[in-house]
Amino acid sequence: MAKGERVYVALGSNLEDRAAHLAYARARIAALPGTRLLQQSAVEETAPLGAVPQGAYLNQMVLLDTTLEPGELLARLHAIEAERGRDRRAGVRWGPRTLDLDIVRYGNRVVREPELTIPHPELPNRDFWLREIAELDALPLAGRAGG
Ligand code: ADP
Ligand code: MG
Repeated sequence: MAKGERVYVALGSNLEDRAAHLAYARARIAALPGTRLLQQSAVEETAPLGAVPQGAYLNQMVLLDTTLEPGELLARLHAIEAERGRDRRAGVRWGPRTLDLDIVRYGNRVVREPELTIPHPELPNRDFWLREIAELDALPLAGRAGG
């Protein structure tokens, strides 16, 4: 199934049961049409970024093989965020959230649209993303299911 593009998606949560939000996201992403979950990094705890006082985050990077186009994938990721009660109307940039799903890399594609920038512009600034990608790139593709 799914001979599409290699896509790195970052999962983050800093509200409520953070590990449960990440587990939910992994399951829903793995079930998207035309999509296979190839790999997942370890879950890492990180300090919040930006000026808003808030709790620590749990982060994880997953590697997908998907035939969903970038815009379609983003819409589906937003729907999964909404299922975990994320309220975008609050509109605070980098504020607390139950679930944040970002497209970090999409094959070798470059996208510059008002709603979607790929590679993700924060990639060079987030050491934990770079670490997680390096971790995934060192893993065999079928390993580490579950977790
Ligand atoms: P954050 O920047 O903290 O992830 P949001 O999750 O609220 O903030 O995202 C704000 C907007 O960023 C989204 O509505 C989306 O349209 C846009 N966006 C641009 N590029 C990307 C990307 N690569 N992945 C996810 N969202 C993106
Ligand atoms: Mg986001």
